[in-house]
Amino acid sequence: MIGILGGTFDPIHYGHLRTALDVQQALALSEIRLIPLSDPPHRAAPSRTPEQRLALLQTAVADEPRLVIDTRELLRGGKSYTVETLLSIKAEQPDETICLILGSDAFNSFHRWHKPEQILELTHLIVMQRPGEADPTHHHERITHQTADLQSQAAGLILPLAVTQLEISATHIRKLLSEGKSPRYLLPDAVLKQITEEKLYHSS
Ligand code: ATP
Repeated sequence: MIGILGGTFDPIHYGHLRTALDVQQALALSEIRLIPLSDPPHRAAPSRTPEQRLALLQTAVADEPRLVIDTRELLRGGKSYTVETLLSIKAEQPDETICLILGSDAFNSFHRWHKPEQILELTHLIVMQRPGEADPTHHHERITHQTADLQSQAAGLILPLAVTQLEISATHIRKLLSEGKSPRYLLPDAVLKQITEEKLYHSS
């Protein structure tokens, strides 16, 4: 069983990294794939290029084998539809159970994604509680609280999962940097060093 966590990662921060590791360990996943998206269908384009976001991601997980970068959405280009990503992973690994990991904010708009019903035929959903967000899953008919259910059914379950509550967002990090303030301790030092050296998010 593998986990996938898609995102703009603009930039990657501890809110992604620590919670991904929480999920990997809670569900004993063999790995978590971090999938940087090219062009998100439901929000503004990322502020930095795919190459810049990918380079920061590589720095962040360089010494963590449980977190693996999967570049298929960047290579595919265009709008990043999760259903296409899942179909392409299933084509390579038909017997692998996939857990799609989302923050509670992202789950709130899941019904507006492209082909949500087909996504649930391909994967389970793991919903991480984000600070300040109510649990959006409780009325859902597919909900389970038993992690063992994820092994006994191939797809289609929704599992809310408590993770370390880190009130960190990429938006806040970009804002601090554009104001000339430091976002240190919200993201790995090595990532911040790279951002600073390349002046990635500084106002011109
Ligand atoms: P932005 O502030 O630019 O919207 P973000 O910090 O929300 O970015 P994304 O790359 O959009 O980061 O997030 C990718 C996934 O990680 C989403 O499912 C999001 O809900 C989840 N996520 C991001 N930050 C956290 C956090 N602090 N705790 C739990 N989940 C998070």
